[in-house]
Amino acid sequence: RNDQLAEWDRENFFHPSTHLAQFARGEQQSRIITGAQGCHIEDRNGKKHLDAFAGLYCVNVGYGRTEIAEAIAKQAHELAYYHAYVGHGTEASITLSKMILDRSPAHMSKVYFGLGGSDANETNVKLVWYYNNILGRPEKKKIISRWRGYHGSGLVTGSLTGLELFHKKFDLPLAQVLHTDAPYYFRRDDLDQSEEQFVAQCVASLEELIAREGADTIAAFIGEPVLGTGGIVPPPAGYWTEIQKVLDKHDILLIADEVVTGFGRLGSMMGSDYYGMKPDIMTIAKGLTSAYAPLSGSIVSERMWKVLEDGTDENGVIGHGWTYSAHPIGAAAGVANLKLLDELNLIENNRETGAYLNKAMRDALGDHPHVGDIRGEGMLCAVEFVRDRDGRILFDASEKIGAQVAGALADSGVIGRAMPQGDILGFAPPFCLTREEADEVVAKTADAVGKILG
Ligand code: PLP
Repeated sequence: RNDQLAEWDRENFFHPSTHLAQFARGEQQSRIITGAQGCHIEDRNGKKHLDAFAGLYCVNVGYGRTEIAEAIAKQAHELAYYHAYVGHGTEASITLSKMILDRSPAHMSKVYFGLGGSDANETNVKLVWYYNNILGRPEKKKIISRWRGYHGSGLVTGSLTGLELFHKKFDLPLAQVLHTDAPYYFRRDDLDQSEEQFVAQCVASLEELIAREGADTIAAFIGEPVLGTGGIVPPPAGYWTEIQKVLDKHDILLIADEVVTGFGRLGSMMGSDYYGMKPDIMTIAKGLTSAYAPLSGSIVSERMWKVLEDGTDENGVIGHGWTYSAHPIGAAAGVANLKLLDELNLIENNRETGAYLNKAMRDALGDHPHVGDIRGEGMLCAVEFVRDRDGRILFDASEKIGAQVAGALADSGVIGRAMPQGDILGFAPPFCLTREEADEVVAKTADAVGKILG
């Protein structure tokens, strides 16, 4: 339908992560979404799509949850806004802070609220710098991230993000940010390497980077428990244990970016629990409210909190805050969302159906000559396409195979995501996915692969 809304969209709307020229020329048009229920979204032509990526892996409890909608409406009626600065709070945000800490590892202490994952990671870097300044080591400031990590698209967070697309023409990364290897076993250089040898190599290259820069210049290491936007890559066994040892040895803080993994995506409450990580800060966003309202958080450990608490400036105020920190509407959505996760046992369903989805995907496509890898954890699944699976020869990026398969899949009514780098089709459905819906995702993916790759 080429009507007025489409015209206004093209003329006025600067869409994020979009090919601007193609959009301006009308070669790409927005699918305008008008409603959603459970795992399905509906466009204004009345077509239903099975959303196997939960928006941007965020609508974890599924669409159309009246409990959350009503909590938001109630909050908006009673108190749409009040700030959280100097000596103020709201019932919703205080309750939510308690609920978050109850669901976090025991050594975590306080939560600072923001709006999205990017600003939360921006907060994290500032807190790490503040912490080291209080401790009298102003030179210890660099942050190590991984290639293929995704941590947002602000100035610092876009720098942390280890994807070229987010750097080029933006003059990023900033100098204080360093990158090390991604724990991406499928893309290892040496095909004969075992997982154990590969982990040892990741550890050795981190050690080398630290030695080259000097441990006294490095403040923190940031990582997603499972690499998300960089390709949905669970780490090989033992990776986090070994990385944690290196960080502890050099007194480098760990920021666990749990924006995707937090609140159940891996089938456990937090990705840090799942991999036995011991973070000093955890970033939470998406699953905190299941995206019913924007809200994020930086959870800081007791060890960090003690230093921050003792070291605030002479006037006792930390100079960091957003107008919308701890926005009551976001907080009300968060409280209702976390209650729903518990009441409906959604994390358990996620664990079971996620395992079912991953197995069914492997059964259907595991032997396909152009499928090199099928991997996943909890309700995350990725299918990686290759020209030749024996030699693990990749397709040329210009062929855009991943995007073509995602397009064919979308035509059949299932939304997956062509991950931004490489021919990787990603799935991260809502936790309420049923086995029948998982079967549909798998069958239609197999059809789409057949159409594009034979
Ligand atoms: N961190 C991770 C792991 C993410 O996946 C994302 C977004 O996808 C972000 C941070 C940034 O969050 P936001 O887009 O809400 O700023």
